[in-house]
Amino acid sequence: IKSKLPHIGTSVFSVMSKMAAQYNAINLSQGFPNFPVAPELIENYQQVIKGDYNQYMPMPGAPRLLTEIGQKVEKHYGRKVNPETEILVTAGATQAIFTAIQAVIHPGDEAIVLDPSYDCYAPTVELAGGKPIHINMEPDFSVDWNKVEDAISKDTKLLIVNNPHNPGGTVFSEKDIQAIEQIMERHPHLYLLSDEVYEFIHFEEKHISINSRKAIRERAFITSSFGKTFHVTGWKIGYLVAPKALMDEVKKIHQYIVFSVNSTSQQTLANYLPQADLSDLGSFYQKKRDFFRELMKNSRFELLDCQGTYFQVARYSEISDKSDVDFATELTQKHGVAVIPVSGFNKDKHDDHLIRFCFAKDEDTIIKATEKLCKI
Ligand code: PMP
Ligand code: GLN
Repeated sequence: IKSKLPHIGTSVFSVMSKMAAQYNAINLSQGFPNFPVAPELIENYQQVIKGDYNQYMPMPGAPRLLTEIGQKVEKHYGRKVNPETEILVTAGATQAIFTAIQAVIHPGDEAIVLDPSYDCYAPTVELAGGKPIHINMEPDFSVDWNKVEDAISKDTKLLIVNNPHNPGGTVFSEKDIQAIEQIMERHPHLYLLSDEVYEFIHFEEKHISINSRKAIRERAFITSSFGKTFHVTGWKIGYLVAPKALMDEVKKIHQYIVFSVNSTSQQTLANYLPQADLSDLGSFYQKKRDFFRELMKNSRFELLDCQGTYFQVARYSEISDKSDVDFATELTQKHGVAVIPVSGFNKDKHDDHLIRFCFAKDEDTIIKATEKLCKI
């Protein structure tokens, strides 16, 4: 078979999680929580599974879940969305991103990707026949918006942003959002894909959703993931918000990728959403971040700032001059802690001697992992 993605191998998340299992290492690599989810969510699931939710949901999503998502978007961001025409429930944010990109990108179109970037963006653009244009973020993971604007050509159709940012842990400031607005205003042929899967996981900095920005949301696809919000990454349920004209095109593609997504999980989330307190999630993860950082004080790792997501980036230059891939391999195989090399998020593979830890873990795991890391 002739490969459509000849330059792409297996995702770094799969590679590192597999290595963690093989070497019996504590897995701080792939991002997933290892603590129990809310008991109410499980109880809701048990009720739903006993009920009659075993057949296809309507193509765009469970009607009550669409309504609940609409209310959530209105409550948090003051945006009134029509659940029937402007929301789509997807198989994780991954499928929302894939489908939105398929809808906008035609062969020859360009999409701007800010590196380090989440692994699915660029290959998805290529699968649509488009060309990803990679712009490197600054060393502190801030964005030089002039560089972004300079990269826009007549063929550029899409700007992809991720806020809060994985792996950088940065959160866009008001200035960043204004810069995006100005770019969108100056380039009327441009659409925006705003990946906001960590929308509720932010700390000292406030997260500004594109949902709250009237000027650009009419040309934006915004995605979120219940996997991150309710600690259920394995359920693979996310959603996309976009204005009707954009969503009509997305739905044409969605119906041939999955048609509709898992009924029982959707119905459970519909029942659970009204009782869930989303405002707590930031402080829940802030405590984990602070706990992890405190215990790492005695290590030789230099921890970068972390304002959002459940990832902490660290520089290891004081410990080793190996490449980040070799260092991550050594950490996993010799020291018993699996991590992600940050160069895996860079198209040019540039290596700033940074690794990413996932701190979405119970206290015991954080203690055991940091004990090992402090001995290195
Ligand atoms: N975008 C980012 C930035 C992510 O970190 C993730 C999850 N790792 C996703 C998208 C995909 O989310 P989901 O698991 O819901 O497909
Ligand atoms: N989003 C998760 C991470 O960044 C991994 C998701 C996946 O394994 N595809 O680690």
